[in-house]
Amino acid sequence: MAKISGIGVKMVKIGILNLQGAVSEHYDMTKKAIGKLGVDIEVKSVKYAEDIETCDGIIISGGESTVIGKLIHERGIDKAIKQNNIPVFGTCAGMVLLGKKTDFDQPLMGLMDISVKRNRYGSQKNSFEAPIEIFGQEYLGVFIRAPSLESYDRTKKDIKILSKFDGEIIAIQQGRNIAISFHPELTDDTLIHEYFIKEVLAI
Ligand code: GLN
Repeated sequence: MAKISGIGVKMVKIGILNLQGAVSEHYDMTKKAIGKLGVDIEVKSVKYAEDIETCDGIIISGGESTVIGKLIHERGIDKAIKQNNIPVFGTCAGMVLLGKKTDFDQPLMGLMDISVKRNRYGSQKNSFEAPIEIFGQEYLGVFIRAPSLESYDRTKKDIKILSKFDGEIIAIQQGRNIAISFHPELTDDTLIHEYFIKEVLAI
C-alpha cells in the first residue's frame, strides 16, 4: 500500500532480492507485469535491510537457498521483512526460505507455516517443463531442482493451496506471502507476477 509521507504519497516499490540466483529475470517479469496492469510501481534490486524496509513487496528468486538464507540472516533482512510486515513472493529457493522447516539444517525466514522438501524433482539434469494449472488457467511450470511442499499447518485459516502437480502442492499462499516451487520468471506469462502485484496493492 502506498504510504503517506509528509509531502505526499510515496511511490509503491517492489524489491527483487539480489543476493544470488535468477534475479534479473524476475526484475524484467515484474516490470512487464506492472506494464500490463497499468499501475505505477517502482522495481528495485535490493541487497540490504535498509533498502528492504522501504519496499511494499519483496520477490525472492530461485538460486541456492542455503547461500541466500545465510545472507538474509546475516544482513537482518528477515527481521526487516517481519517488522515491516512486507509481503514476499518466493520462487523455488524462495519457497524454501519462506518456510519454517526443510529436510536440511539451514537458516530460513519462517514467514509461512509450511515445511518444504528440497530438490524434490532431482538434480539440475532432471529439470523439466510441464503444463500446470494455477488461478484457473494453464501455465508453463519450469522446474529446476524444485522443492515441493512436505506439509502445512492445517489449523491456519489464512493458507490457500494455489496449485498441485502430480499430487504434490507446488504453489501455496499464506496471508499475502506466496511460495511456488517452479520458475514463472523463465516463462513469457506474467500471470503470477500480476497476482503478487495485486496482493501488494491489495486490489
Ligand atoms: N534446490 C535449490 C535449493 O533448495 C533451489 C533450486 C532453484 O531455486 N532453482 O536451494
